[in-house]
Amino acid sequence: DGRLTVDDLTAWMLRFDERIAAEAEHLTELDSAIGDADHGTNIARGTGAVRRRLADAPPGDAGALLKSSGMALVSTVGGASGSLYGTLFLEMAKSVGPAPELDTAVLADAFRAGVAGVVARGRAEPGDKTMVDALQPAAEALSVAAAGGRPLLESLRAAAAAAAVGRDATIPLVARKGRASYLGERSADHLDPGATSAAILVQALADARSE
Ligand code: ADP
Ligand code: MG
Ligand code: MG
Repeated sequence: DGRLTVDDLTAWMLRFDERIAAEAEHLTELDSAIGDADHGTNIARGTGAVRRRLADAPPGDAGALLKSSGMALVSTVGGASGSLYGTLFLEMAKSVGPAPELDTAVLADAFRAGVAGVVARGRAEPGDKTMVDALQPAAEALSVAAAGGRPLLESLRAAAAAAAVGRDATIPLVARKGRASYLGERSADHLDPGATSAAILVQALADARSE
């Protein structure tokens, strides 16, 4: 089965930063269609700050790592996505506490708690065309896999696949939260930028683990 160590979680954050840096232009392009053309730069600033913070002050346990990452995101991203991604990590940190390693079930519970925090803060339901459309199915897939006793990597891959499906399902939706909602019906037929970065986040964990 397997467990996520602090090194694995660090690798997740580094992979997230790498993928976001590579996709920043695309994410900003998506946001230019239905928002204010800053999602890529916002999130890349945040993941870069996470990378530097983890290098300068390597955390000693899983909770500390998630907390430090969340604080770096909140304090540097700005925009709606900054406080939402920050909340995701800070709630995950609270859920795991000072654990040295996370097994699949503990990770699944933490991710659910993180997504619940995003929903509580942003008040977006699945179907509102936001990052929740990728995060919520990922959390569900991870919980189902964990409850079924699936191995860690298989569970992470299931979560990443569910996030990608949720991301793609945002295309026809009309946005009901965030800046894109100002466009009303004109927000349809576009991929949501935040759902796209959220799918990258989940895929990054599966990728970091499979190396
Ligand atoms: P801003 O809209 O402030 O410029 P970003 O461009 O960085 O912030 O992020 C936009 C993304 O944030 C959207 O694509 C959407 O996925 C997400 N988002 C916006 N508002 C909410 C909300 N209330 N709940 C969940 N996600 C949201
Ligand atoms: Mg924006
Ligand atoms: Mg903005």
